[in-house]
Amino acid sequence: MDHCDVLIVGAGPVGTTLALELALQGVSFRIIDKSPTRSEHSRALIVHPRTLELLDRHGPVVDKLMSKGTIARGAVMNINRKLVARVDMDDLDITDTNFPLPLMVSQAETEKFMEEALAEYGKAVERGYTATNIVQNDKGVTTTLKTPNGSHTTIRSKYVVGCDGAHSVVRHSASDVTFDGDTYPQDFILCDARLRNSNVARDRFTICFGDTGLLAFFPISPHSNDNNEDGLIRLIASGGRSVTKQPPSQPTAPGSPGSQPQHQHGEQPDEPPTLSHFQHLLDSFAPPGSGTVHSPIWLARFRLHHRGVNSYRSSRLFLAGDAAHIHSPAGGQGMNVGIQDAINLGWKLASVLKHHNKLTEEAREALLDSYHAERYPVGRALLQGTDRMFSFTAAASPWILKVRNAVLPWVLPWLVAVKWVRRRFYGFISGFGTSYRYSGKGNGGGAGESCVVGMNIMSSESSSMKIRGGDRLPDGKVIELTPGRAEVGRTDGRYAPGDEGRRVPDLPLLEERTETSLHRICRGASWHLLLFSGTGTGDSNAVTVEGLTLAGERVLAVVKRECSLHFFYHVAEDQDRGDSAGQGRLRPLGDGELQVVTGDSGVASYADPGGRVHGLLGLDNGHGGFVMVRPDGYVSHIGYLSSLHDFVKEWESQVRI
Ligand SMILES: Cc1cc2nc3c(=O)[nH]c(=O)nc-3n(C[C@H](O)[C@H](O)[C@H](O)COP(=O)(O)OP(=O)(O)OC[C@H]3O[C@@H](n4cnc5c(N)ncnc54)[C@H](O)[C@@H]3O)c2cc1C
Repeated sequence: MDHCDVLIVGAGPVGTTLALELALQGVSFRIIDKSPTRSEHSRALIVHPRTLELLDRHGPVVDKLMSKGTIARGAVMNINRKLVARVDMDDLDITDTNFPLPLMVSQAETEKFMEEALAEYGKAVERGYTATNIVQNDKGVTTTLKTPNGSHTTIRSKYVVGCDGAHSVVRHSASDVTFDGDTYPQDFILCDARLRNSNVARDRFTICFGDTGLLAFFPISPHSNDNNEDGLIRLIASGGRSVTKQPPSQPTAPGSPGSQPQHQHGEQPDEPPTLSHFQHLLDSFAPPGSGTVHSPIWLARFRLHHRGVNSYRSSRLFLAGDAAHIHSPAGGQGMNVGIQDAINLGWKLASVLKHHNKLTEEAREALLDSYHAERYPVGRALLQGTDRMFSFTAAASPWILKVRNAVLPWVLPWLVAVKWVRRRFYGFISGFGTSYRYSGKGNGGGAGESCVVGMNIMSSESSSMKIRGGDRLPDGKVIELTPGRAEVGRTDGRYAPGDEGRRVPDLPLLEERTETSLHRICRGASWHLLLFSGTGTGDSNAVTVEGLTLAGERVLAVVKRECSLHFFYHVAEDQDRGDSAGQGRLRPLGDGELQVVTGDSGVASYADPGGRVHGLLGLDNGHGGFVMVRPDGYVSHIGYLSSLHDFVKEWESQVRI
């Protein structure tokens, strides 16, 4: 019998993401997939901004996706062949990220680039292996695999993660896990084809509502290629017929009568639509000039479900992605949320495995339970949100469609003109709105408690903090400070030990900027402790190198895991002396406000020109502060340095890792 720490069943986008995370963490794992080759179907076309941010720590995956995909700038809504609204997403003033907009790119490309990144870690998917039976006890899990040559073998692992899609065998093996929900009565048809002579927007989604259904366009590769071929487009339409409801039970198990294990969940392989049917829909629902479809590469009919598990964990078995939640493609969420499941789980499994002997059993269990506590509420919100969007866009009843189409031309233009409405909606679909704040201890949430999210560490002056424990770490640009260069501003341009405590002369510094960003700094497998000097305004002084070093030492004494320390110093940005707006030179603050910009503390140090990053984090009222960032890029604790004592106490009593 073979052994490994983690067996990942399923190498779709979710399983491959988990493999990337475990490889980054240096954990022993295997990843198997029953399919001998990767799927070439486009399926998920939208990679949302939060997913791009999170995948960006795995080598060139995101750069490759960017080179193949198209940035989606918004949507166009037509009703009965007339334009009623253009929805913009590029005017929402989202500045705290490198990826403000979604990317349209085929899931086949996404999976390919992920597998290439996995190869760079020296790991590969074992294809042609099907998990057929999974049995766990309190010591481990035994999985029976059917091998490519038809024989059977077993693997013993400490944990098994089911990333095996809608018909998950892992889920079926967990006797205490249910998969409740329902099947939509409408069926849907899909066509990936080329589009000729079309005026359909190539950098937006286009949705056309008609009195008998809807048709949506999603550009896949919108531009003609070198051979002068027409661009590829995805068309999705209501299938034009209602289907008898299935009882709200679990989907049939793979291998049992009626199951379709070779197909995407809900696909009805026996009844594909025809290209001429799509041309007819285009002529009936889309505005004149929408073009001619030809050269189809995928025609399919779908039934859609909305179902979710009651638990993401059953002892040593975990579920992620479509194995845990399936829903309509409205909002383009499934793959994105699944990838984020995997990123949440990866570092937790790794912590428990790598530091098994240093953690108490209680601490290990609490950390693994926090996966369900944090991701279950996200999954529930996903099912509710996509269900609402689906019911709105694809109502089955003809009279609801008529009322909708009569009302929308009046309401939609007004609604999309209101920025905060769009921002709110975008917060949900982009993934930026995902927060584990309410899975924290004492914060309720109803689905268990997370041990790795602290409430804001409250002290009188921190009660107004805008980022809290559980929130995404916003991204912002800072400047790398290299000891030994001209940061301190001595006339010889070098820092010398003993300069701490002396006032820095008000000289230009950092002529040559090496710009980096919070997200880049917080990549890698470890936790990150960010210590901020504070802006030194109002009645408080900015904290010196010694102050931050002391604070760092106090925290590192109780945090037993790998934790990287980073110092951030507020410096003024003198726009007047710069070449152009935003390119000003940096100088230390005025007399007495900042005594030493950087030192030889050996800690990575950064300048925060104009205190912009301090401001993003809500640390801009003068006082120094700290932010503890988890390996998955979420803030676990945040506060002012004056509340460091409370943070250390909370870490010792609650987090214990
Ligand atoms: C038409 C369409 C459009 C979509 N659009 C979007 C979109 O725009 N954005 C978005 O985020 N999502 C979208 N989705 C959803 C997205 O495709 C899925 O959510 C995503 O593929 C789920 O990934 P996964 O890795 O969880 O599961 P899957 O992609 O289903 O992968 C599961 C893998 O497990 C393997 N497997 C299954 N059983 C076993 C077994 N017993 N042993 C070994 N291996 C096994 C399978 O071969 C497969 O490779 C869309 C889906 C469809 C159908």
